Amino acid sequence: MTTALVIGAGIAGPVAAMALQKAGIHARMFEGHPTGADEVGSWLTLQANGIDALAAVDAQHVVTGVGFPQPSMRFFSGTGKALGRMSNGVPLADGTPTQMMPRAELYRVLRDEAVARGASISYGRQLVDATTTGTRVTAAFADGGTAEGDLLIGCDGIRSRVRQIIDPAAPAARYVPVLNIGGVVSGVPVNAPVGEFQMVFGKRCFWAYVAVPDGRVAWFANPPRADEPTGAELAAMTDADWRTWLLDLTAADDRGPFPEIIRAAPGPLVGWATYDMPTVPTWHRDNMVIIGDAAHATSPAAGQGAAMALEDAVLLPRFLRDAPDVATAFRLFEELRRDRVEKIVQYGARSSHSKAAGPVGRIIRDAAMPLFMRMAAKQNTRWLHSHHIDWDEPALIRR
Ligand SMILES: Cc1cc2nc3c(=O)[nH]c(=O)nc-3n(C[C@H](O)[C@H](O)[C@H](O)COP(=O)(O)OP(=O)(O)OC[C@H]3O[C@@H](n4cnc5c(N)ncnc54)[C@H](O)[C@@H]3O)c2cc1C
Repeated sequence: MTTALVIGAGIAGPVAAMALQKAGIHARMFEGHPTGADEVGSWLTLQANGIDALAAVDAQHVVTGVGFPQPSMRFFSGTGKALGRMSNGVPLADGTPTQMMPRAELYRVLRDEAVARGASISYGRQLVDATTTGTRVTAAFADGGTAEGDLLIGCDGIRSRVRQIIDPAAPAARYVPVLNIGGVVSGVPVNAPVGEFQMVFGKRCFWAYVAVPDGRVAWFANPPRADEPTGAELAAMTDADWRTWLLDLTAADDRGPFPEIIRAAPGPLVGWATYDMPTVPTWHRDNMVIIGDAAHATSPAAGQGAAMALEDAVLLPRFLRDAPDVATAFRLFEELRRDRVEKIVQYGARSSHSKAAGPVGRIIRDAAMPLFMRMAAKQNTRWLHSHHIDWDEPALIRR
């Protein structure tokens, strides 16, 4: 039986493992983190096209009950002026809309389901190198161990090691000039419908919140930051530093419940710099390939990173199922995917930059936004959200 080494068990990895198993290929996952309990506290919006990809491998049910519907977003200026409302895409044919969920829960249910379907997972296995010989590939891990398989799929995220192994000249992630921080709070009443994101283009900082069905409020903020901070600088920031900074950016200038949310936010407060990957020239070499963020990360502003990773995770194994050899499968996969994912990365970058507008840009943005929202509502975004995968459709048909 063909064996695939799947590097990384975030979002793409476990779903690729499920789809590989469905295609008759044994999947072995290797995750660098020592345990499954990563990313606690962070929330994620899974757009309907990502849920459609899960449905293609009969896994839609694993996210049922993990999240809650998040069908729309409302936008405001910092002065409280309503700028417009935007749908989060059309629901699936069965009525399932975009969902919001704790990221750690999503990781957990996807991994559990992949293992239940016969894939294996090893934690604490950080890939450091990989070599190919003929039709075989050998992965080398930081613990000194190795693993052998017929192909290797890099699902190892934006800082992908597999990307560098495939092409040592591959570009690094690009800094997008905003930071990210967020979490969930209790005991802060907000005047907003459950599940509808309230997005505020504040005078000095973009911030957002959404009422969760259990009465809590999930929030995030994107403090602008022109130059890229170092990891050490972010790690050195205390909860008090974040609270002081976020209150300074929002409390005096903006209307809304953000100061109450920030004061109530439990620690630890952890912030990230934002990155994307506009174009990775080489996605595959020999019998190694990258998918998900490793190949095309978008800034979180697109709300599509996880959904794109899930689409890839299902479509690549479908090509492996039907193509005469691995090289053809990788080539056809790239031909099908590259335009779509790079268009979405561009969309995410534009959205992130609008959050970091200067004083003049802000005036133009706030004036133009209601018109933009009306135009966006009329625009056909089916290409984005209504992407559909039929697992049984032959992968090699010409489009
Ligand atoms: C702050 C923030 C908010 C976001 N919000 C959203 C959102 O609301 N909606 C959305 O769709 N997307 C969102 N995204 C993007 C989304 O999280 C990613 O697009 C998605 O997780 C990509 O999945 P992936 O499997 O490719 O990578 P990841 O989920 O990053 O998984 C990569 C995995 O590989 C492992 N790994 C890395 N290196 C190695 C190695 N050398 N060896 C072994 N294992 C390794 C990592 O530990 C990790 O488990 C957000 C991102 C950020 C940073």
